[in-house]
Order: sequence, then structure tokens, then C-alpha cells
Amino acid sequence: PYTYTKSREAFDRAFRVIPSGIYGHQGPSEGCYIPQTAFPLFSSRAQGTRFWDLDDNEYIDYMCGYGPNVLGYRDPDVDAAAQAQAKIEDVVTIPSAVMVDFAELLVDTVASADWAFFAKNGGDTTTLAVLTARAATRRKKIVFFDGFYHGVAPWTQKLDYPGILEEDVAHNLYAPWNDLAALERLFSEHRGQIAGLIAQPYMHGNFVDNQLPAEGYWAGVRKLCDDHGVVLIVDDVRAGFRLDLAGSDHYFGFEADLICFCKALANGYNVSALCGKESLKDVVSSLSYTGSYWMSAVPFAAGIASITKLKQLDGPALFERLGTELTTGLVSAASDHGLHLVASGAPALFYLRLADDDSLMLHQEWVAECVQRGVFLTSHHNHFINASLTSADIARTVEVAHEAFGIVKARHPELG
Ligand code: PMP
Repeated sequence: PYTYTKSREAFDRAFRVIPSGIYGHQGPSEGCYIPQTAFPLFSSRAQGTRFWDLDDNEYIDYMCGYGPNVLGYRDPDVDAAAQAQAKIEDVVTIPSAVMVDFAELLVDTVASADWAFFAKNGGDTTTLAVLTARAATRRKKIVFFDGFYHGVAPWTQKLDYPGILEEDVAHNLYAPWNDLAALERLFSEHRGQIAGLIAQPYMHGNFVDNQLPAEGYWAGVRKLCDDHGVVLIVDDVRAGFRLDLAGSDHYFGFEADLICFCKALANGYNVSALCGKESLKDVVSSLSYTGSYWMSAVPFAAGIASITKLKQLDGPALFERLGTELTTGLVSAASDHGLHLVASGAPALFYLRLADDDSLMLHQEWVAECVQRGVFLTSHHNHFINASLTSADIARTVEVAHEAFGIVKARHPELG
């Protein structure tokens, strides 16, 4: 198994000068209840579907930077486009016309896009979407689905989180996923008060099996929103460009009013986009909303190259094929050891759970054994497929997983 001496040394330095050393979900404490020493903490380089940590351990990476790595790290075509743009200009007093090229490409590509507004992070676009819904309807309430994640702006947090005021979340309403009757009741109870409904295209929450929409569910949600004059916002920050280049709403057969993109938009270059319907364009224009780096040109050039290449490769079909090959192999490796691995969600964004122990500790042990042998999985979050993953990488992954299942099984004779 790998050791992480240099990662630990860097983390000790980080802890002195950076709050919590590494904050957010990339940090060592988030969600990892078993030996945190099982995970590397700092990377040193990345290429294709792999990265190397500070101790030069190599990983086949199924987290893809939590989504942005969609073509492969340092994709030559995207990097060439970005470097060519960087030689000309990036952040300037007025924007580069490459911004217009990128907006035109999104409008051509994304089914529910009549326009595109660019920012940096996913949360910039979910917040813009909520502002737009409120400005358009002059109503206050926003409906969320249980298991949601829409970023870290105060309106997306929970009341018991530090620093959050009652006022920040006072107009949030929560509904269970895949339960149309419950949503209908909520809409009726708050008739005339709901500005928007914000939803990921399917439930990809943490620590739980991910759930695709039930048959007819999205059509029912769309109709309820229409009947009640509610703006339907799809948060495609995570699933966008992995399920369908025309948008995950298109994949599930409906049209969003507003759709948020970020992670897979430019293969790791820093850009996000809110796209939407013509009817909301003037509302967005009326808002006070921008940022220092939101019109930088290099990520726009990267985004154009990335989407163009995803179209050439038919990225979503490739991700589905590779994801299915991988999860089938993992499930069968588990069953060789008499263990029951559940793979849920879309294959391109597969979620894993070892179902032989409800506490998820066994699952975390298995993940830790995989990571220490060069297969980077996480224990509580969905994973991601990128286009440079090969069948040979998948075969190697299944081999490592097999060994890791064997180690966990041997450690737990109580499993029989
Ligand atoms: N929505 C979803 C579905 C996400 O997965 C994320 C990021 N994990 C966000 C919003 C927030 O994006 P960001 O962290 O770039 O602000």
C-alpha cells in the first residue's frame, strides 16, 4: 500500500496558514470516517485519467477533480486553444469577442438555451438563477429536493450551519425526490408564493444510493411549474455534458426555464454558465450581477474546444459505455468475494455502496484499500468518468478492487 509522507508534511504546513488546511470536500475530514491516513492530500501532476500525489504515487482517478476533468487532464486540444488565447489576451477592460463565440456555441448545443450568461463557479449560476426566478415572479419561495447541493451561498445552506441566519433560509421549501403528490401538496399550500423550483436532473446526494427520475416524474414537475407559474431551474453543474450535450433536461425529456452549468464546461478551465429561455433574458439583464474574472477569455476558448471535442467523440455515449463496463466489473468482483456492491445513478456519474453493512464503514474500508493501491474512489459522493479512460484502465481498476474486497473480507470473518 501507498504511504503519504510528503502529503502529510505539506498538510502540516497548510494547517498553520490555511483554515482547516484544505477546506471543503477536497479536505481530509469531509465524509471520511475511516483512516484519513488512507488518502493522499496534495497532488503534484495530472495527465489523462491519472494524477500523481506529492509522494509520486499514481492514481487512476474516478473523481475527475469532482467533475471538471471530462476529456482527460491536460487535453492537448483544449490546452492548445487556451494557450493560443492566452498569447493574445485574457482579462481586459472590455471583453473579448470569444465570449460571443462561446455563447453562440452553447445556444446551438443546449436545447433549452436561448442565451448564456458566464461566471466562474457553479454557485454563481445557481444564485443567479434564484435571483432571476424571484425578479421574474416577484415571489419569495424556492423549492428544493431533499439531498440537494447547489453550492455554498447562504440560501443553499442549512439553518444549523455556522454563520447562517434564519432570514437566509426563511423562504426555502423542501420536498422529497420522486414524489409528485408531495410536490403537488407543497405547491398548493404555498400557491402564489413560489418563485422557483431548483433541482439536479436526478438525485445524486451523498451517502445514499442515487436515484434516477421515476417514469413521468419530470413531465409532472414541468406541468406543476407551468400551472403555478413557477420558474423551473435545472442545476446541471454536476451532470451537465456527461449525460447529454444538449442538457440533462433534454436527456430526461423536458425543458428547463433556466439551466446551470459549470464542472464539465471547459475541461478544468474556470468558467460556469447560466443558460435559459428567451422569456427570462430581460429579467437577467435587469439584475445587478457580475464578477472580476467572469469575462476572462482563456476559459471561453477552452470551453469552445472542449465542447467541440465532446461532440466529435460523442462524449455522453462513451461515458455511458465506460461507466457500465466499470460498474459491471466492480459488482462482479464484489460478488466473487460474496459481497454485495450496489452501483446507482447514471453510469457516467456512478455512485457505489457496499451493502453488506448499513453503517457504510465496510464500504469506506474498501475504498481506502483501493485508494492505497492506485484507484482513486471516494466513499460518499458520486464518481465521474472522463473520455481518456480506457478498457485497460478499467481492467486494472477491477483487479485492484478485487484485491481490496479480499482484504476487507479477510479482516471481517463475521461476514461469513
Ligand atoms: N450544484 C451542484 C449539483 C454541484 O455538484 C456543485 C458543486 N459540487 C454546485 C452546484 C456548486 O458549484 P461550485 O462549487 O462550483 O460553486
